[in-house]
Amino acid sequence: MSISFLPDILPPLEDGVCFICDGSGIDYNDQHCRTCQGKGRAMVRRWPAEANFANSNAYAVMAALGIEQSPGGSVPHSGLPDILRRALIVLNDDRAASQHTRPAWSVEGGWAGIAIRETGNLSEIVHMGPVIRSTGLDADGLRDRVRSVVEVVEVAHKLGVGITWG
Ligand SMILES: [Zn+2]
Repeated sequence: MSISFLPDILPPLEDGVCFICDGSGIDYNDQHCRTCQGKGRAMVRRWPAEANFANSNAYAVMAALGIEQSPGGSVPHSGLPDILRRALIVLNDDRAASQHTRPAWSVEGGWAGIAIRETGNLSEIVHMGPVIRSTGLDADGLRDRVRSVVEVVEVAHKLGVGITWG
């Protein structure tokens, strides 16, 4: 799951690479792509700027920029200067940035207990529950993402519109 930040405009549809099959003509179920009828081309919208992050990172960026933490939303043109002010603080102040980072973590496999698997006349003890890892978000990673949103904000500012995300 991911969230995209965009200038709040609806660009016209134009001929482009099919966004469902990525131009292959075969969709994610290994079926003939119905969106483009297998041609690999479809009408698409191209935004002049876009920043796309995994949900957890998008929420960290929203918090750092002082905007509503939600899966979808918008900030009007008049709210853009506040976002840029917050971005400057996060980009220049280590303490401000560190409030929105999170450490990497992992859980060892086997956390869901054991099961006994019978194969023929063999019994095997199986440890259930996979290893789970989260990559975390350090200050550099946060700042790279904040800079990407600043690019979207600057394009929106020039176009006289706000930003939207979802
Ligand atoms: Zn397609």
